[in-house]
Amino acid sequence: MIVECPACKARTNVPADKAGKRFRCRKCSWVIQIPNPEAANKTGGEEGSRATVWIVVGVLALAGLAVGLFFLIRSLSGTN
Ligand SMILES: [Zn+2]
Repeated sequence: MIVECPACKARTNVPADKAGKRFRCRKCSWVIQIPNPEAANKTGGEEGSRATVWIVVGVLALAGLAVGLFFLIRSLSGTN
């Protein structure tokens, strides 16, 4: 994986198993924290599932509102 040094913008190819660890930039000796892609994916997935839950809740609320309005209008206008 390619990691860019935030200090001097030098790009270094580091092995994937270094993810989540630190290494020193060869150019400027800056200590770079290598991002952990697995952890990033995990948090992203949790946020995604949380968003899905809110979408489902919203759809159910709208459906309930629509059904309520349907019966309200029918009871108001219906002579039956
Ligand atoms: Zn550097």
